[in-house]
Amino acid sequence: MDLLELLAACIEQGRTAIAPTLVSPIERERLDQLRQLGAMTLAPADVIFCPHCEIRTVRVLAVGSGFCIDCGLVSLTAKDTLRLAPDGDWLRRRMAQALGLAGEPAWVIVPGRVWKIGDVRTAAQRRRVLFGQQIGDMMVLRVLLAAWPTHVGETPAVIVTTSPPDRVFLPGVPATLVPLPAAFRLRGGGLVADEAVWAGVGASAGLSATVRRYGPFSHDFREVTLPGEVMPIALTPAQAAIMRILWELEGALIDRRTLMRRAGVELEKPVDAFARNKFPQANRAYRVLVSSDRGGNYLISRNAIQFNHSS
Ligand SMILES: [Zn+2]
Repeated sequence: MDLLELLAACIEQGRTAIAPTLVSPIERERLDQLRQLGAMTLAPADVIFCPHCEIRTVRVLAVGSGFCIDCGLVSLTAKDTLRLAPDGDWLRRRMAQALGLAGEPAWVIVPGRVWKIGDVRTAAQRRRVLFGQQIGDMMVLRVLLAAWPTHVGETPAVIVTTSPPDRVFLPGVPATLVPLPAAFRLRGGGLVADEAVWAGVGASAGLSATVRRYGPFSHDFREVTLPGEVMPIALTPAQAAIMRILWELEGALIDRRTLMRRAGVELEKPVDAFARNKFPQANRAYRVLVSSDRGGNYLISRNAIQFNHSS
């Protein structure tokens, strides 16, 4: 389990009472690393495991004393009552920084459960980034859906979450769920956005209003967003070159040899550059966007040309 997975698990389990003395040495070391980063902080706990029997829980009555059902009144040192707790504020700030949104405070959508981190733009589109913890719960999801029109509306959303995505059921809203450990990586003292998940976010954040797009393609044809989808698909230079030529022909046919020569790709057929086993996502984009007749001529399909430019 990497550090971010451990942090996600701590948040998800609501483990606000981790006694450093009760975990395994390996876990203790990792918790300590998270504490040094600032992701977990030591805080006084109301309820702790009894330091005498280590079985019962003890309610902390006052500084220095607590009550255990088996042991009676027990005296507690400061070390006994200090517990490691995930620092949600740290996490939300670092996520915003990794997405180039530093400075925007997270906005509470569902208290203690869901926050708006901010809006990111890729060359293709704007996405609203939310963070959700302990959201695999029908009550929480109902509150979130009720707040959705006010806080998110029609903007496609990405929900970074510590909850298992298969337990988060959000019918009727355009949201993509990304587990926290997949969305970011720890680097230095903060987080960096995973390139595959946030394709283009770092490079074009803030610029996109002025960056030219071509229908479903980014300005350099290295990304394509299929109709009705949120996440752009990355294309290799060869794939991008083929798509650019087809796009510039605006639906006119081009024969296979001319297409491959003009794209500068030394392969037999265009689909060879989109091999399904190597590039499953790009292959899917190819099948949606490129058509051919039986005579070996290719064209960009209506799907691409009629792509909604305003989305
Ligand atoms: Zn006890």
